[in-house]
Amino acid sequence: MVGAELVTALIGTAPRVWHGVEKLAGPEDLDALLAGLALRPEGRVLEPAQVEAVRRLRSELRTIVDGAEEGEAIRLASALTARARASLTLTGEERWRWTYEATGDLADELAGIAGVGLLGVLRTLGVERFRACAAPDCEGAFVDASRSGRRRYCMPDLCGNRVNVARHRARRRGASPG
Ligand SMILES: [Zn+2]
Repeated sequence: MVGAELVTALIGTAPRVWHGVEKLAGPEDLDALLAGLALRPEGRVLEPAQVEAVRRLRSELRTIVDGAEEGEAIRLASALTARARASLTLTGEERWRWTYEATGDLADELAGIAGVGLLGVLRTLGVERFRACAAPDCEGAFVDASRSGRRRYCMPDLCGNRVNVARHRARRRGASPG
């Protein structure tokens, strides 16, 4: 579910998740994030103003994921889809793929993809899949679109590992004499 992944990836770039450091600082950050999700608009150069607009979208997404009231989440996610001119097409042997209208605003297009993703999760999995990160020192949030629904951390490699290391240290402290 690329839309849900996009929401989680964007939320995970915010300064509040990184102790004040902005991880979506410039076009190259946005480019890398979109490339990682196979959402990079081909043949288009990203501008700083677009990054700014995507950062605004990011805080809207965070509001939806934090809100956790189903009716409101559906309303806000539907509003996001209305902003987009992006569409899904089936290309050759590939699976469904998002395409952008060349004239469209990138943040609006991403809003559409995110909105569709959020609505899909709300419909099939429920609003309880919008979660705060379980790591005690993390301000992150995420959308759990996994089959099992057991995801606990916004960045499993990072936050999950930190929790494991902390537990390990606590055990060692408990086991050491004196
Ligand atoms: Zn986290």
